[in-house]
Amino acid sequence: MIRERGIVIHAEDCGDYWAERLEKSGLNVVGVHPAGGVVAHHSLADCIRFVGTPAWSRFAARMERVGIAVEFEMHALSWLLERELFDVHPDWFRMDEHGQRTPQFNCCASSPEALDHIRERAAELAGIFKPDTHKYHFWIDDVASAGCACPQCRSLSASDQAVILYNAIADGVCSVDPAARVSYLAYCETLKLPKEIKPSDRLFLEYAPIGRDHARPLFDPDCPANAAQTDHLPALLDLFGRRGAKALDYWVDNSLFSGWTLPPKRFSLHEEVCRADVRAYRDLGFESVTSFGCYLGENYRDLWGDADLDAYFRILAAED
Ligand SMILES: [Zn+2]
Repeated sequence: MIRERGIVIHAEDCGDYWAERLEKSGLNVVGVHPAGGVVAHHSLADCIRFVGTPAWSRFAARMERVGIAVEFEMHALSWLLERELFDVHPDWFRMDEHGQRTPQFNCCASSPEALDHIRERAAELAGIFKPDTHKYHFWIDDVASAGCACPQCRSLSASDQAVILYNAIADGVCSVDPAARVSYLAYCETLKLPKEIKPSDRLFLEYAPIGRDHARPLFDPDCPANAAQTDHLPALLDLFGRRGAKALDYWVDNSLFSGWTLPPKRFSLHEEVCRADVRAYRDLGFESVTSFGCYLGENYRDLWGDADLDAYFRILAAED
């Protein structure tokens, strides 16, 4: 059994069209995702405005009525530590490999002042985005590798630096919601096991194998691309624990299949891959399984008709 079975859609898709599809889906969680990339902090700010509108309230009420929990999943670090602060506090920011401080992506994980600021802003953000599941997904920036190379951070891996940042985010979030748990996003460089820094008990593993081969089962031993994504997974599960562990996969992520560029390409699910992966996640002890499901809303329907998601819904509903 997989306790939480979901899909993650763009904030701008949270309207009547998707609400109706979700109501009939058999899923019990929907993740709301402001678009990522280098402008993720601007999408996040747009999403803050959106959750104050009647359109959002209508969508959220429809989800509540059918027992679908709402969560928010977003790259947040450049919002949590505003880039404008670089002019006054360059030492709060990342040192690149050439020894230059830069406001681009993430921050210095060894700056106590930067971490204090992140705690405060994480508390503020938790007051705005209140997930029904008490699971908060305020991720570091959407970039494959952007750790700090200052003398204090240099010896720490991207994963260890990420644990420092997620621990600080968890402090802030838990000051607002004592029942909160906070995502450690294992993705790109942070798929590797953190070794130096101990994760707070408040963190849960969120595993997102973006570099996988989508046409082959994730645990296919003959697929090197997938083996590279799963190498550290058992150790990550042991470190963070299985309670609340979440797989965030890409089976129905038509934004990825469209190269994150509109218009959406025509989509079809690798059904057997999805079925095998979901079983494997369940057997590993994941409590929560979801997939990005972007570029499948009205913009997709207008070009290609309703996206065929029935098989995805059926595969996850079978794990109830
Ligand atoms: Zn540093």
